[in-house]
Amino acid sequence: MPTLFAKIIRGELPSEIVYQDELVTAFRDISPAAPTHILIVPNKVIRTVNDLRDEDEKVAGRMVIVAKKLAEREGIAEDGYRLIINCNRHGGQDVYHLHMHLIGGRQLGPIAQ
Ligand code: 5GP
Repeated sequence: MPTLFAKIIRGELPSEIVYQDELVTAFRDISPAAPTHILIVPNKVIRTVNDLRDEDEKVAGRMVIVAKKLAEREGIAEDGYRLIINCNRHGGQDVYHLHMHLIGGRQLGPIAQ
């Protein structure tokens, strides 16, 4: 079964894709927590951070670099923003296709609740 995000990456589910290359895709979160809320996702299915392997270094690094560029493009780089990867149950992960949240555009609260 393809993951929800795999379907978005392949264009089988509607979303606002803001960036795509051979390794990652970024699209706006359907339920934004802040004025900017973008998900940066590896094109290949990696379920969680726990499933990253040494050979995934390039895709993991690309996720951060793309987040940084999108923050600039969104105009939130200078004020600041937060990058979050939730992992498994205690981390509050809902979708089991690795993704990084880029959240900003307002003052954010405490890092963990
Ligand atoms: P998690 O809790 O797994 O770290 O985050 C999953 C995120 O995916 C949530 O912020 C949720 O709003 C977002 N999301 C869930 N379903 C969809 C969808 O169909 N489209 C988009 N664009 N985002 C989704």
